[in-house]
Amino acid sequence: MTKPLVLITGASSGIGAAIAQEMSAAGHPLLLLARRLDKMEALNLPNTLCRKVDVTDKSALIAAIEEAEQQYGPVDCLVNNAGMMLLGDIANQEPVEWKQMFDVNVLATLNGIQAVLGGMKDRGRGSIINISSLAGVKTFINHAAYCGTKYAVAAIAETVREEVAPKGVRIMTISPGAVETGLVNHTTSQGLVDDYLKWKDSIGGAVNVEDIAHAVMFMYSQPQSVTIRELQIAPTRQE
Ligand code: NDP
Repeated sequence: MTKPLVLITGASSGIGAAIAQEMSAAGHPLLLLARRLDKMEALNLPNTLCRKVDVTDKSALIAAIEEAEQQYGPVDCLVNNAGMMLLGDIANQEPVEWKQMFDVNVLATLNGIQAVLGGMKDRGRGSIINISSLAGVKTFINHAAYCGTKYAVAAIAETVREEVAPKGVRIMTISPGAVETGLVNHTTSQGLVDDYLKWKDSIGGAVNVEDIAHAVMFMYSQPQSVTIRELQIAPTRQE
């Protein structure tokens, strides 16, 4: 039987690319979105549409979804994964960095939810998996704005879940601890990057992107009548 379409945002690297590979290996057609088109195309996955979309651009997001749905049928699973982590001492961090994080981590997550939710409610099925963070569950110093975005994702996800539960749509959140990706490298303070890398070494390293991809697949592959609302996954030695 043909598997339904899965949409993954931020699929050009890290966790999103790993989720794309795992979903594709399970036979799903994919819509992959990010700004680095070449990285998504280099994954070379079958039945996959890659589109250069900035997820803060709602109309570009919707256009890509319409194009993919014409080819592969409705989106059955959205993985809201695109994100930015710009660590900063709040007394000195440029406000433009707070805005970048809130635009991508929060507003684009809402864009994604709104773009697919109507169809899912009409069909009485569908899954939205939001990649939040342990920084959306507990605080970390020099993560003030980032924690703010991820606490927001948790609140948004749980609110939407309550709204659409009666329609049979599943809203889920994964909160990873440290994962081995280049996420921290966009932080402008080299001192904070170095501190983060030292902390990561001190806990014996991060989990791998495949560990998060397996968790996404585990949540998605439950029967439609079962929702794992929230899953935390982190290196064993991370406090
Ligand atoms: P990466 O930096 O490898 O991935 C981030 C992805 O988001 C990239 O594919 C990037 O694509 C995409 N992205 C960023 N901004 C935009 C945008 N405006 N439009 C479209 N795509 C965008 O890091 P990770 O894989 O680690 O991050 C993935 C998610 O996991 C994030 O939400 C992050 O907060 C979360 N997370 C990560 C943890 C970690 O330790 N690594 C821990 C907990 C949560 P491009 O630049 O091509 O647009």
